[in-house]
Amino acid sequence: MNATFLGELDQIVGREGVLRDPTDLLTYESDALARLRRRPGVVVLPKTAADVQAVVRHCHQNAVPFVARGHGTGLSGGALPAPDGVLIVLTRLNRILDVDIPNQRVTVEPGVVNLDVTQRVAPFGYYYAPDPSSQLVCSIGGNVAENSGGAHCLKYGFTVHHVLGLEAVLPNGEMVHLGGATLDTPGLDLLSVLVGSEGTLAVVTKVTLRLVRIPEAVRTLLAAFPSTEDAGNAVSEIIAAGIVPAAVEMMDRLTITAAEAAVHPGFPSAEAVLIVELDGAKAEVAELFGLVERICRSARATEIQIARDGEERARIWKGRKAAFAAMGRVSPNYYVQDGVIPRTKLPEVLRRIRALEVESGLRIGNVFHAGDGNLHPLVCYDERIEGQGALAERVASEILTYCIEAGGSITGEHGVGADKVQAMAHLFTADDLETMQLVRCAFDPTNICNPGKIFPTPRLCGEVPGPYRRHPIERAGLAERF
Ligand SMILES: Cc1cc2nc3c(=O)[nH]c(=O)nc-3n(C[C@H](O)[C@H](O)[C@H](O)COP(=O)(O)OP(=O)(O)OC[C@H]3O[C@@H](n4cnc5c(N)ncnc54)[C@H](O)[C@@H]3O)c2cc1C
Repeated sequence: MNATFLGELDQIVGREGVLRDPTDLLTYESDALARLRRRPGVVVLPKTAADVQAVVRHCHQNAVPFVARGHGTGLSGGALPAPDGVLIVLTRLNRILDVDIPNQRVTVEPGVVNLDVTQRVAPFGYYYAPDPSSQLVCSIGGNVAENSGGAHCLKYGFTVHHVLGLEAVLPNGEMVHLGGATLDTPGLDLLSVLVGSEGTLAVVTKVTLRLVRIPEAVRTLLAAFPSTEDAGNAVSEIIAAGIVPAAVEMMDRLTITAAEAAVHPGFPSAEAVLIVELDGAKAEVAELFGLVERICRSARATEIQIARDGEERARIWKGRKAAFAAMGRVSPNYYVQDGVIPRTKLPEVLRRIRALEVESGLRIGNVFHAGDGNLHPLVCYDERIEGQGALAERVASEILTYCIEAGGSITGEHGVGADKVQAMAHLFTADDLETMQLVRCAFDPTNICNPGKIFPTPRLCGEVPGPYRRHPIERAGLAERF
């Protein structure tokens, strides 16, 4: 990266907003998937959308690849820097720009933390529904890029269902506005193309979000079961009864133990627990809650805890939301897998995961959005033991093949990023992938916007391959997968 290029970045964002010292760059080598690392050429911390636009335009003019980064909590290496590229970190674009309660929407910069949106609008009786477990730290820009989900997405939908409008900078530096204040806009739905595109089509600089009214009543129970199969049957029965819970989450013995050790939520000792939450009108919730309780009992629940107030409800959710991080209490290292299957296939896939656990000798915890069929197997390993890291990755990959074979997909919410690029070819045909690449090429014909992510095959727009191709990702001891 030459001095003139860097000097121009200083001019755009100010000297203090450009990091190039190797020690400073260390922080940005990876997202939460720490096994994939690459040092960025330079990190820039713009303060405004105009800064972002100028940085992207500068990259485009100099054919330098760039990657957008929010708060770095991604679990698929989506924010892994491009070699010798610019990492555009959006944490300083962190203002809530407009709160429009009568129209139930809020406009924010991409660096705003997910939970801050709810905290800002809660006094007016509203909240922002998509609630990834990382919502205390992850950014709205990252949520948009990943189309993030969360426990309450079963009833309320994913991020894509809550984004009304976007401002974004295209890879050539052009600023575009997609969607808007109304629910439908004429023409192609490019807004939905951008949501979930993992930072490969544009850098998002402003987001208008839909708000949801805080429901009149919320009731939460935690039911313990003698097996994950029994808990899975309870989920099927609840849905078959025509109930759409706000959330249905399952945790198995290992993740219960980890959560207990980390945040002491008072979970019972059991093979599996279900957390079921209903919300809506008071009378309706009261009636359906009784039905859920009866279904759990007839599905062999051994214990049922009912949250009596907001505090007890928060305690239960604390246990669930801490589950990933809590695995550090029971294993020196763990690999968070993310796959999705039709809900009815849960018992079958869980059985296969158990068999894999025995076969591989690695413990596998399971915590998941059971209502959505979105699995998060946590494969435990010890990287100090030669070969265990690679084994854990193979085990995690094997679980993805189970998901595909069950009619599901390789990611439910964490994205493809750099991690699952090869798995895409197992899910899609070459034609499918080429069609998707054509869309990507329409946005980014010179291949500078988060290159090397999502797609395994060469691109079709005839561009000269970017410099990133010469720099393999450092994967400590990783064997070839798939
Ligand atoms: C403990 C833990 C729990 C989690 N729980 C959940 C969960 O329940 N549900 C869920 O869906 N995810 C979950 N995640 C994953 C992660 O938090 C989400 O993917 C989140 O949306 C990432 O946001 P971020 O700001 O950290 O983005 P980053 O990690 O910084 O980036 C993620 C991707 O978004 C792109 N990006 C970031 N900002 C922009 C922008 N402004 N414009 C364009 N592209 C951009 C990046 O290039 C990258 O591809 C969890 C992660 C952890 C560590």
